[in-house]
Amino acid sequence: MRRGERSMQDKPVTSVVIAGGGTAGWMAAATLSRNFGPDALKVTLVESAEIGTVGVGEATIPPILQLNAQLGIDEDDLLRRTQGTYKLGIEFVDWGRQGSRYFHPFGSYGADLGGVAFHHHWLRTREGALADYSLNTGAALAGKFDRPTEDPRSVLSKLSYALHFDATLYAALLRERSLEQGVEAVEGRIARVVLDQLSGHVDRLDLADGRTLRADLYIDCTGFRGLLIEQALNTGYEDWSHWLPMDRALAVPTAPAGPPLPYTRSTADAAGWRWRIPLQHRVGNGHVYSSAFTDEAAATEALVAGLDGQMLAAPRALSFTTGRRRKMWNRNVVALGLAGGFVEPLESTSIHLIQRGVVTLMSLFPAGGFVQAEIDCYNRLMQAEMEEVRDFVILHYKQSLRDDTPFWRAVQAMSVPDSLAERMAIFAHCGRLLLGPGELFREPSWVAVMLGQGLVPQGYDPLANGIPESDLRPALQRMRAVIGRGVEALPSHAAFLRERSSAEPGERAG
Ligand SMILES: Cc1cc2nc3c(=O)[nH]c(=O)nc-3n(C[C@H](O)[C@H](O)[C@H](O)COP(=O)(O)OP(=O)(O)OC[C@H]3O[C@@H](n4cnc5c(N)ncnc54)[C@H](O)[C@@H]3O)c2cc1C
Repeated sequence: MRRGERSMQDKPVTSVVIAGGGTAGWMAAATLSRNFGPDALKVTLVESAEIGTVGVGEATIPPILQLNAQLGIDEDDLLRRTQGTYKLGIEFVDWGRQGSRYFHPFGSYGADLGGVAFHHHWLRTREGALADYSLNTGAALAGKFDRPTEDPRSVLSKLSYALHFDATLYAALLRERSLEQGVEAVEGRIARVVLDQLSGHVDRLDLADGRTLRADLYIDCTGFRGLLIEQALNTGYEDWSHWLPMDRALAVPTAPAGPPLPYTRSTADAAGWRWRIPLQHRVGNGHVYSSAFTDEAAATEALVAGLDGQMLAAPRALSFTTGRRRKMWNRNVVALGLAGGFVEPLESTSIHLIQRGVVTLMSLFPAGGFVQAEIDCYNRLMQAEMEEVRDFVILHYKQSLRDDTPFWRAVQAMSVPDSLAERMAIFAHCGRLLLGPGELFREPSWVAVMLGQGLVPQGYDPLANGIPESDLRPALQRMRAVIGRGVEALPSHAAFLRERSSAEPGERAG
């Protein structure tokens, strides 16, 4: 390097190349271009129609609403454009035991009393069914939906929701936004990732047609292959399949067999589980399974046997390894989406982790050059987020009481991460959940899955005894009554969609 010349590390970052145009690539492009603008940051995205995208990823969790709002996307428009529906939670069928079902709702159960979390009062009295204290559960199972009211005194202000959408149509919407915001889209296949000899940073991407792309920062959104982060930088992958042995999926669309339901359904199977995600124009179905315990022919048979509508295409097979890239930011490459790691879609968390990756990158954006402490901080934060999701998903397997197949016996017998083992032991003792302030899944989610799958605490928080039982029981009865009336007052999900967000022209009100 000549004197006065800046190294690649010190150079201000004024240009980004995003490699890959799936959900991750376009989420990154839309967010960066909206926040920085084309004068501060030149954003180029390269994608390859020949390679295509993974094409799944249809269920989300509530924070997606914030992302869409920050991008200025109108929700009704989004639902129309992506054939979307609303999601109030997930129904788990055959998970705790065969023949059992429970609902993991977004939002809360009842109300905390005397500074003590609601579920301790319920554990103390067992007054009514836990599900009757959840507005989201009642609404979902009755096929009802409305957006929360703004009046905080109304129980209907407590509804919490996310979306189901067609992933390809969502990426197309974000693409359109990104182009309006000055992102340059390049169609072409990256044939070679060239590293700078001195710094080991990515210097340029050579496309198969001879063009070259150069930037200060590269975002690897190339999917499972991790073209930059792994194939070029050899970052390494922490494999979690000893805890989450699912490594295959089959996806198949079907024609709707009735009005779209406002929730995802997950049905446990002999060596994995099957999903059902209702959209306006079709239903997304899939089977996630472990190839160590079943084969593709048997998994296909189970998938097809569980469908309620007519198949619109042949089942498509996907393979994956659950885990995370050892560093999600390595040198001048940040990996987002499947390139950064993958936890199976049981709790619909992948798109959320992309969102968290982009938001965290913006808060540590290396505008003035690369600083190792910022890179380390990014990696630490993203690792913690992925591990929290991992633990929550493992809980669903470890805690099942099923023992009907070798798969279920194996996942129950496995040892789990210490963080999860400790949480399960504390809950089993007295129902306490000591969550970190930034954890994604809050108390109601853990309570729903733990109790739903048969982890019933021996006791409850003794602080709950501060309220005399003679006051507590009527208070709980009132809560259930208020929630029951709230559910009754809601319109049907199908009617709400038809009126506000239908993809069918002429079905819109106004
Ligand atoms: C079975 C399954 C079900 C899922 N369900 C959900 C769900 O319900 N909810 C959820 O949140 N998430 C879900 N996910 C995860 C979700 O699909 C992904 O997080 C999301 O689609 C993001 O994918 P991606 O953009 O990282 O990768 P991809 O969609 O694979 O995109 C990769 C991009 O890189 C491009 N590319 C690759 N190589 C090159 C090259 N050499 N040159 C140029 N371009 C290249 C491709 O063309 C493509 O544009 C699911 C995943 C699986 C496997």
